[in-house]
Amino acid sequence: MYDDGKVDLDRLVTMFGGRIEYRDSVEALHVRDAGDFTIFVPQFTSSARDRFTIAHELGHYFLHYRFAGHSDERTFGRGQRNRAETEANVFASALLMPKDEFRRQWRASAQDEWKVANYFDVSPAAAKVRAQVLDLS
Ligand SMILES: [Zn+2]
Repeated sequence: MYDDGKVDLDRLVTMFGGRIEYRDSVEALHVRDAGDFTIFVPQFTSSARDRFTIAHELGHYFLHYRFAGHSDERTFGRGQRNRAETEANVFASALLMPKDEFRRQWRASAQDEWKVANYFDVSPAAAKVRAQVLDLS
């Protein structure tokens, strides 16, 4: 599932019964049923941004749909509770930058968030936050 440090999100989403659609709109997650969902990603954004969006929406799917025990059709978009947004961000960050590999890369790059960001295909800001959360910076 991890190829050269980068998690294969397309494969992961497909594996859990989802699909990704790029459209001219804000990001959202639409769940029809367990194992049947669509992640909507805005068009014309960077790969790093798209990857964070997809991982974040997957966070909503697992944390706020499956784990919350829902089985009805529902949509997650902007305007979720702040706590839910934070949880989805933490999920995304951990999925995109697994702890041990992140530690290794952070050390190997002498704490260069640009290099580490490039390795995981995330934004430097996301890499910096991850380093702070892991107490590395
Ligand atoms: Zn969200």
